[in-house]
Amino acid sequence: MIQLEDDEIIKMKRGLGWIDLKEAIKSEGCPICFIMNKSLEKYFENLLHEFALDVTVHKKMIAAMGMCNIHTWVFAEFSDKLGIASLFETTLSKEIKLLKRTTELGKNNLPDDFKNKKKLEKHKKTIIEQLLTKGYCLACEHQRESESFYTHEILTLWSDDEFQSYYGKDDIILCRSHFLFLVEECGRKEIIDYFLAIQRSKLDNINYQFSEFLRKHDYRFQNEMTDENRKSLIKVLEYFGSKKNVDREGYNDSQPNKR
Ligand SMILES: [Zn+2]
Ligand SMILES: [Zn+2]
Repeated sequence: MIQLEDDEIIKMKRGLGWIDLKEAIKSEGCPICFIMNKSLEKYFENLLHEFALDVTVHKKMIAAMGMCNIHTWVFAEFSDKLGIASLFETTLSKEIKLLKRTTELGKNNLPDDFKNKKKLEKHKKTIIEQLLTKGYCLACEHQRESESFYTHEILTLWSDDEFQSYYGKDDIILCRSHFLFLVEECGRKEIIDYFLAIQRSKLDNINYQFSEFLRKHDYRFQNEMTDENRKSLIKVLEYFGSKKNVDREGYNDSQPNKR
C-alpha cells in the first residue's frame, strides 16, 4: 500500500516536462542545453504557424528590434520564409519611422553648430536614445523560461529511480553554466551533494578520456586512439561552452538598451 502511494507521488511529481526531460537524459551531453534547443525549435514553429500575425508578438519584436544574433540565424533556417518576413515586417516599418524621426532631430540647427564637440555629442546621444532597444529578444525570453522550468523539473525528480538510471550514465553531464544554475536554484544540501558528486565523477571520466586523447596524438600511440578518446574533446568543449546556440550569458539581449 505504501509502495503504491510512493508511486503515486512520483507520478504526480512527473509533471508535463517528464517526457521532454526523459528524452534529454537519454541523449548526450547537457540535458538542459538539449531541451533548450528542442523547445526553441518548437517555439519558432509555433511562432510561424500560429503567431505570425499576433499583435503581442509584433510588439515584442519591435521592442527588441528583431532578435539577438543567435536567434536571428536559427530562425532564418526555417523554410517558411513568408512567415519569417511577416514577423519582421512591422519591425522594419518601425525602424524606418524611427530613422525619419532622428533625421528631423538636428533640423533646426545650422550645420556649423555641430562643429562644437559638445553639441555634436549631445546630438549623437539623442539619436542613440531614439534607436535603443526597449525589450528582450523573444526567443531569448523563451530560452530563459524553458531553462528555468526544466532545471526545476530535474530538481523535483532527482531522487526518482528512473531519472537517476538515465542521469547517472556517463554520456549525460550538465554543462558548467547549467550546473551552476542548478546549484543556484537548489533548496536542499543533499540534492546539491548528489549533483556535485555525479558531476565530479563524470568529469573525472571525461578527464581520463581527454588525457588519453592528448597522449595518443604521439605517433607511437596513434593506433590506440578510440572513439571515446576522440569524443572527449567535444565533451570538454561542450562542458565549458554549452551546446551550440545555447548561450546563458549571451541571452544577447539580457540588457535592453545596451545595444
Ligand atoms: Zn547546458
Ligand atoms: Zn535571442
